[in-house]
Amino acid sequence: MKEELAPSKNIRVRFAPSPTGWLHMGGVRTALINYLFAKNQKGVFVLRVEDTDLDRSNDTYLKAQLGDLQWLGFKWDEGPHPVTLEDQGSYGPYRQSQRLSLYQGYAQELIQSDKAYYCFLTDKEIEVMKERALKNKEPFRVESPYRNKSLEEAKERIKRGESAVVRFKVPKVKKNYVLKDIVRGEVCFPVDMVGDFILLRSSGLPVYNFSCAIDDYSMKISHVFRSEEHLANTLRQMMIFEAFGWPLPRYGHLSLILGEDRKKLSKRHGSVSCGEYKKQGYLPAALLNFLALMGWNPKTEQEIFSFSELVDSFSLQGLNPSPGVFDKKKLDWINGKHLKQMKVEDFLEKLKPFFRKEGLEFPQNPIWWEKAILNLKDTFSSLHEAVNVFRFLSDSFFEVHDTAREVLLWPSTSSVLGAWEGFLNSYPQEEITPEAFSQACKDIQKRTEVKGKLLFMPIRTAVLGRPQGIELKAVIPLISRKVLLKRVSILQKQQSHLTS
Ligand code: GLU
Repeated sequence: MKEELAPSKNIRVRFAPSPTGWLHMGGVRTALINYLFAKNQKGVFVLRVEDTDLDRSNDTYLKAQLGDLQWLGFKWDEGPHPVTLEDQGSYGPYRQSQRLSLYQGYAQELIQSDKAYYCFLTDKEIEVMKERALKNKEPFRVESPYRNKSLEEAKERIKRGESAVVRFKVPKVKKNYVLKDIVRGEVCFPVDMVGDFILLRSSGLPVYNFSCAIDDYSMKISHVFRSEEHLANTLRQMMIFEAFGWPLPRYGHLSLILGEDRKKLSKRHGSVSCGEYKKQGYLPAALLNFLALMGWNPKTEQEIFSFSELVDSFSLQGLNPSPGVFDKKKLDWINGKHLKQMKVEDFLEKLKPFFRKEGLEFPQNPIWWEKAILNLKDTFSSLHEAVNVFRFLSDSFFEVHDTAREVLLWPSTSSVLGAWEGFLNSYPQEEITPEAFSQACKDIQKRTEVKGKLLFMPIRTAVLGRPQGIELKAVIPLISRKVLLKRVSILQKQQSHLTS
């Protein structure tokens, strides 16, 4: 049974990425659910950087992740500035690597109250324990002989130069931990599920569970939404909260995102990083719309949402514990819908960098653009696909594709191309209307006595450089007569070269 949440004051949530790689789509979904909840409830969204893995974390990844979040439209109330990385907010620093003394202080507090201890087990000794457990087919748990040694003895050893980790003393009581999860209802963890786990490594750096619990408490986080993969961590974090006597935040463990083969979404399934979708020309609003619907049910027929509509419609009751499938076709469909809803000027603004990159040039006329987008908007669902369609309209682009070869070798092609050229030469205006084009095809058919694909494919090739592709009626009015003449003459040259 899922519990109804009483409206709560002082809502503070956090997204806590580790800057050890690019921002993953799963991470974006986690950030999104936290953000929607916070903003819907007029709460605070904190961005905290979990960078205590000093070897794998770096500022390049951090800036890239913050840049992607900003591109998506997230505005964090507290956390590092996306460019300068300067902290904003009164619970900082927001990078865990700058909070190390805090964790060390709290670890000392647990040691003093006998809830944690110094452990001198070596990696080798732990390896032997693991092997023994494996051989006896028992679950592995660290049983440290140092658990009940005195603090004085431990301090002596440290003084002698021995290195120690700080381990949490998992209570030896026979009680199960019960989590009232916002998404999954009651989750029961047997207390013997975990052995004494590490809080601080011998280097003094905290492990994730410790720094996370300390920060969720000290940053006054009220709700934590994260992937269900973290459930076992949550048990450890609950134990840490209990040891300090701190009130627990509310947790909601989001369902996994699966690939279409129902395995956990990974690189094997294609693009998984936000940056790759950005490069391919997906719109931020469409990505967020798509990810929100994965694991959250708006309980209406509406499927297309702007970011602010998502914020307004969000409710925890719609969060779904069953896994979401990353359905790329659905993403394309949603992206296409968002593209079609955009104003022509906005759409063009988004396309321009792609055109520039590809060296494509177009008429500078807003009426032309209006018509181009109206005629072609059903042929693409991403900016990347749009570029591939608009390419055919660019004055600076004409490429004869390999598939044209067969068409150029047909004996009747030369007379069709000649007649098409004749029509273009005699047409009195630069812009050819769809009606004039239909009439021209009929006239060419009559004159050359060529019909069907033998007629249409050479004309199509003379316009697009290939016998397949977009509907000619939609593109002819968008390419000037002068450019069409240039194209047919290039094709004629290739044809005579091939057939001579
Ligand atoms: N840094 C953790 C991660 O990236 C955060 C998990 C959490 O939200 O507690 O998975």
